[in-house]
Amino acid sequence: MKADSNPILDFATEYVFPAFSELTGTDKIVAFGDHSHKCPIYVRQTPPCTAECPAGEDIRGINRYLNGIEKSDDPMRSAWETAVDTNPFPAIMGRICPHPCQGGCNRQYLDESVAINANEHAFGNYGIEKGLKLPGPGPDTGRRVAVIGGGPAGLSAAYQLRRRGHAVTIFDANEKLGGMVLYGIMGYRVDRKVLEAEIARIIELGIETKMGVRVGRDVTMEQLEAEYDAVFIGIGAQAGRGLPVPGFAGQAGATNAIEFLRNYEVMGDDIPIGRKVLVIGDGNVAMDVARLALRLGSESAVVSGVPRGEMACFENEFEDAVREGADMHYMTGTLEVLRGADGNVRGLLCSKMERKQKGEEGWNSPIPFLRYRSTGETFEIEADMVVVAIGQSTDMSGFEAVTGSAPWLRVDRNFRIPGRVKLFGGGDAVKVDLITTAVGHGRKAAQSIDAFLNGEPMPEQGYREVTKAQKQDMLYFLPSPQARRRSLEPEVVLGNHDELLLPLEASEVKAESERCMSCGLCFDCKQCVSFCPQEAISRYRDNPTGEKVYTHYAKCIGCHICSLVCPSGYIQMGMGDGL
Ligand SMILES: Cc1cc2nc3c(=O)[nH]c(=O)nc-3n(C[C@H](O)[C@H](O)[C@H](O)COP(=O)(O)OP(=O)(O)OC[C@H]3O[C@@H](n4cnc5c(N)ncnc54)[C@H](O)[C@@H]3O)c2cc1C
Ligand code: SF4
Ligand code: SF4
Ligand code: SF4
Repeated sequence: MKADSNPILDFATEYVFPAFSELTGTDKIVAFGDHSHKCPIYVRQTPPCTAECPAGEDIRGINRYLNGIEKSDDPMRSAWETAVDTNPFPAIMGRICPHPCQGGCNRQYLDESVAINANEHAFGNYGIEKGLKLPGPGPDTGRRVAVIGGGPAGLSAAYQLRRRGHAVTIFDANEKLGGMVLYGIMGYRVDRKVLEAEIARIIELGIETKMGVRVGRDVTMEQLEAEYDAVFIGIGAQAGRGLPVPGFAGQAGATNAIEFLRNYEVMGDDIPIGRKVLVIGDGNVAMDVARLALRLGSESAVVSGVPRGEMACFENEFEDAVREGADMHYMTGTLEVLRGADGNVRGLLCSKMERKQKGEEGWNSPIPFLRYRSTGETFEIEADMVVVAIGQSTDMSGFEAVTGSAPWLRVDRNFRIPGRVKLFGGGDAVKVDLITTAVGHGRKAAQSIDAFLNGEPMPEQGYREVTKAQKQDMLYFLPSPQARRRSLEPEVVLGNHDELLLPLEASEVKAESERCMSCGLCFDCKQCVSFCPQEAISRYRDNPTGEKVYTHYAKCIGCHICSLVCPSGYIQMGMGDGL
């Protein structure tokens, strides 16, 4: 949809009024409204950006500080403080979140979405540079919570619980905190210093950590349940999927992406790697592996079972991998990892793929790979290492009493494990997704745990009215293109693990925040005041922004004009309806 015209508003503004006595129906309402019986009410709604951000950031609130609608001596600081209320990792997310918030942003219907993620990158950096602190721990409640897993889900839960005054201990099998963000996501995407700074701020709140402790091996779930008042399980999906073809399982030179990336984080450049690395898969993780292999001095190629247009990776991840030198093989199925007489990998036996005919099993499957089948024609690709990037699964050993034989953690809408009163969970262990999702799960689970510890009912999520673009008069805003971050073009990829994405300049951040249309909340533009034919709307200067307009209902004739010209969609016609 493109909002280049608002037909109702056009009609209202271009209308040539005939004599009142000649008017009927809608014309009468638009012109004079004397029969609508509806007057404006002011409804604060959820903006679509926040509705689409799984971490639940108050993006409109952030932009209102950055663009000066909300007054602050230090807008970047206020933006940062608003963000960390729900998401303690703005600098990490600002770099690598695929920003579903922007997919929801109503500004896209005028020109392009607001660059929410790029702004998050900038004020996230600001928070680190200025050493900003998270809100401190609340008064001690005497309650103790065990958090299993120090990835984004566990850290988010620990932070929110500590803020509420509960004592928190994180148990993690790894040597360092961070989960997949450290052991899966490469330093050229998130510098380790950024990761360390955002994690340290959480731990500084007084959170105990027990690293190198695997629950299920070093300590049992039963022990934790007995010792703590509540337990949050955020163990992620730590196992990479293997390839069910001959020559793969348990043999040298063939591994999965999770193991490969983890080994790199632990061993650094000394990781054993082939000269020619073939990566099987078509998602972002496959691109990550291919790009790491190039940085380690190998040739790398991606083997995808589907055509380019159906690969699961994001466009930019694909382009970066190709630009850095990765080869691509499309429509290529894998039949066998070929090994020489010495047992070493010598290549991959592949088959050409083709689209299934209509009606064949899987021809219209939602999973692209299943829509293709082998033509029977085979060929070989030379390689001395094969890395499979076809997804992750959980390792639930030690959690059988909680999950039964299910491979995933089951939680209810309060992130409580059904039938287990003090057990809660979230993150990739429930469903492999994104950091922002894990952060949102951790926060909501912490709210539930807090309610449980206080003997209160589980929190209700409640109905949220999300602002529709059609309700906003977008013509108020001047078109302006979205600011784009620059990316360093690595002249030499080999050995270069530096971060590539550059933050926006301060002036660009401000300009970008000014593109925000404050969906669902008044920003004091005064359109309604100027357009009201009855002069029925006043401003109250001393009221906080968002509550500045007031209708004198004795003067209002219900003409709708204020709601038609409101750029934020804050005005709804309702009061008096049916009288
Ligand atoms: C290669 C790769 C690239 C990715 N890129 C992106 C990206 O660009 N953007 C994005 O948003 N998301 C990305 N993701 C997804 C993201 O990393 C995950 O969604 C997120 O880390 C999940 O958080 P989590 O806390 O649920 O689990 P994890 O991050 O997996 O953390 C789980 C933690 O639990 C610990 N643990 C597991 N079992 C036990 C046990 N029995 N006892 C004690 N501790 C245990 C682990 O050691 C680990 O620290 C990527 C994932 C991968 C693998
Ligand atoms: S965490 Fe992701 S979805 Fe949420 S505001 Fe940031 S970029 Fe958008
Ligand atoms: S214009 Fe602003 S408030 Fe509206 S969806 Fe986009 S970022 Fe959110
Ligand atoms: S028209 Fe402007 S001043 Fe009036 S309610 Fe809407 S945003 Fe606020």
